[in-house]
Amino acid sequence: MVRYVYDFTEGGRGMADLLGGKGANLAEMTRMGLPVPPGFVVTTEACRAFLATGAEPAGLSREVSAHLSGLEAASGRRLGQRDDPLLVSVRSGARASMPGMMDTVLDIGLNDESVLGLAVVSGNDRFAWDSYRRLVQMFGSTVMGVESSLFDEAMTVLREARDVPDDRRLDADALADLVEMYKKLIRDATGHDFPQSPAEQLRRAVLAVFRSWNCERAGLYRRREHIPDDLGTAVTVQRMVFGNLGPDSGSGVAFTRDPATGRPGLYGDYLPDAQGEDVVAGVRDAVPLTELERLDPRSYGQLREYLRTLEDHYRDLCDIEFTVERGRLWMLQTRVGKRTAAAEFAIAAELTDEGLITQDEALARVSGDGLVRLMFPRFDTAAAGVPLAHGIPASPGAAVGAVVFDSATAVRRAAAGEKVVLVRHETTPDDLPGMVAAQAVLTSHGGKTSHAAVVARGMGRVCVCGAEELTVRAGTRNFTTRDGTVVEEGTVISVDGTAGAVYPGAAPLVDSPVMRYLETGERSGEVADAVARALLQADGVRRLEVRANADTPEDAARARRFGAQGIGLCRTEHMFLGERRKLVEEMILACTADRRDRALDALLPMQREDFVGILAAMDGLPVTIRLLDPPLHEFLPDRTELAVRVATVEARGGLPDPHDVELLEAVNRMHEENPMLGLRGVRLGLVVPGLVAMQVRAVAEAVVERTRAGGTPVAEIMVPLIGSVEELRLERGEVERVLAEVRDETGVPVNCPVGTMIELPRAALTAGRIAEQADFFSFGTNDLTQTTWGFSRDDVEAEFFSAYLDKGVFPASPFERLDREGVGRLVGLAVAEGRATRPGLKIGVCGEHGGDPESVHFFHAAGLDYVSCSPFRVPVARLEAGRAAV
Ligand code: ADP
Ligand code: MG
Ligand code: MG
Repeated sequence: MVRYVYDFTEGGRGMADLLGGKGANLAEMTRMGLPVPPGFVVTTEACRAFLATGAEPAGLSREVSAHLSGLEAASGRRLGQRDDPLLVSVRSGARASMPGMMDTVLDIGLNDESVLGLAVVSGNDRFAWDSYRRLVQMFGSTVMGVESSLFDEAMTVLREARDVPDDRRLDADALADLVEMYKKLIRDATGHDFPQSPAEQLRRAVLAVFRSWNCERAGLYRRREHIPDDLGTAVTVQRMVFGNLGPDSGSGVAFTRDPATGRPGLYGDYLPDAQGEDVVAGVRDAVPLTELERLDPRSYGQLREYLRTLEDHYRDLCDIEFTVERGRLWMLQTRVGKRTAAAEFAIAAELTDEGLITQDEALARVSGDGLVRLMFPRFDTAAAGVPLAHGIPASPGAAVGAVVFDSATAVRRAAAGEKVVLVRHETTPDDLPGMVAAQAVLTSHGGKTSHAAVVARGMGRVCVCGAEELTVRAGTRNFTTRDGTVVEEGTVISVDGTAGAVYPGAAPLVDSPVMRYLETGERSGEVADAVARALLQADGVRRLEVRANADTPEDAARARRFGAQGIGLCRTEHMFLGERRKLVEEMILACTADRRDRALDALLPMQREDFVGILAAMDGLPVTIRLLDPPLHEFLPDRTELAVRVATVEARGGLPDPHDVELLEAVNRMHEENPMLGLRGVRLGLVVPGLVAMQVRAVAEAVVERTRAGGTPVAEIMVPLIGSVEELRLERGEVERVLAEVRDETGVPVNCPVGTMIELPRAALTAGRIAEQADFFSFGTNDLTQTTWGFSRDDVEAEFFSAYLDKGVFPASPFERLDREGVGRLVGLAVAEGRATRPGLKIGVCGEHGGDPESVHFFHAAGLDYVSCSPFRVPVARLEAGRAAV
């Protein structure tokens, strides 16, 4: 018999899969003896069962009743009891934190009678009616599906009728009227009444929270954060405590350290006489937590002690929600807190120094994604000019974009390729699509824990919040600065999320301290130092080597500075471009062996010089040189253009340029409907005489030249697009022949291993045979993904991928993150069969995936020897390869 409900006293933080993060951590705090209002958790399993069948799982309501009875017995009150009601909150909470994305209903248990009882026992009429109207509103919108703006409109109508400027001035009488208005509104919109039965309220709220797992914004958030769609949410039912009982009550959020910098200390916001939702929604301005010290030193002292206890216990930065009810402190939530990339590294280093975690644990807590963010440039504040405004630096980074004032416009303009900054008075969960689409978020209202700040930090968006000097008018689509400057929609501004400043126009950028460290080794500042430590730790533990994809000596040199241990992919195609194009054309057009050889002979010394440069930059380290891969017509002029040129001249009765005519013939002859599946890769080498010989000779002669210059060149020759061992056998024969020739001519022992790319399914499936002819394998996961899925990567990524992502066909583009299930299976097979033929066969990967954190972990597990990625991704791959190993 499955069990669907656990009391807080029965759970713990190891049970997040079942109880959700919120439920598991409430249980953990309960067990640690911290003051948590009692409650119980309905499991994610119950949610999954409900969502799968649409029906309440059998036995669930009985279990809920039993646990509710326990709660009632412990508090000596019954849910919704008329003279002294027990009230509960019904809270969502999945395994992964999804702040504000799903629903929570507070004050369950109030009805027309118990509201009177609550007024009596609390001695506060206004409070009781305010709680009731909140319940009717929340229940009406989240459970009964009434448009939430209707409630806001009713509130405005009432406020105007009573002539009060803000909600807090509405007295008990007015709020009682409001409840009636809300109830009528619900009846009109749904044909049903707000349920008076507390048990029914509870039951329906639980199911509504289940359903909120599938609401649009939660789905969008999951896709963005790569959270699987099938986990479901748990539901926490917890006794209500009240921060809105007067000046000796209040609610707040706190961090054990500064989530922006990682510096230890007590950080947070406090809102006197308020419920937690008011703090998060930013409806009123919160005060810094230190204010609580003045207002209520005892609660402040306790809070500080609990935070220390939590950080020692979780051995990490924690954030919490708390409420003070008439001088009594209650803990309502904790979790290992989201933080900026800088704080991620700084905290890991600091906790290691404090002896709380080991170096390996520290490595596990930082991330390649965080490192990428720290590598981005910053604004040159000296050159940026006078800021338009200052605000709270909520999420660091430098962003430039055109001002927009609503989510839909942000999405639309970003989809058209424009960089935008979303400017709002404050954000709500409905702004999420716009926040995803924007480069930065700027609000004039709200603190470090406002919705904008928390969400932006979580997704690495630049954010400045609480820029109070700005007056944002979404209606007229502009904002005004303190000195009266009006900034209209579409104007470009720069947002500095690190310093909390906003500049007019596009401010100039400078390197970040982390980039400076990577380029020079100089550790300027705490964050650069923490990054350096993490990278060195990773280098010490990782098994995967990291190489770079680089085609020029400059890229090779940068890759080496960034820690690359070789070049895993040197593409030779760029060596066929620019001024050499004429020669390449000659080679392609040549109808006689003589003419072709002349063209190839002219290309040879140029290629040799290219290789000399790269081998010099990577002296002592392996450089894997790939023979020419793309279809030859890529080096010829555009077919249509050429045809039009020839036809135009002919139409005027002229004689077209004979060279153009010859070219057009060649282009027509070589035209392919599917060039990526056509004459390219090894196929070129096998049908275009002399091409491979020229390239191999250029490599070999470069090796000779470098050797004679006293260097240690380590060149490897790689054959692209092999499908059959026979192709490789033929090509290899030609390569070996030329290498031997150069050896004989020069007397220098040129040894180049000859390997192949595995980038066609057939190559992976016959890897055992192919290994007979290959000294190494390198997975070309871009082509392998393209050919395994049958997706043309040049055409489709923008087209239907966004629909596929929306529909959840895959959680991320398979061109960005390796598709483990399909492509990964081919990789696994090829590794096993390749090494069965040739034990110890060296195997790497050189697709984009080599620099993708998630994929790096897969390649580690698959037993590869190295990953190769673009130079800027090398530090990320080093870090993630280390993380994969701990
Ligand atoms: P979210 O996941 O969106 O933060 P929560 O479940 O944490 O949603 O609840 C929303 C707000 O209501 C929070 O500020 C929380 O502290 C407050 N809250 C939830 N349960 C209770 C309770 N039992 N007593 C008082 N406040 C509560
Ligand atoms: Mg919360
Ligand atoms: Mg390829």
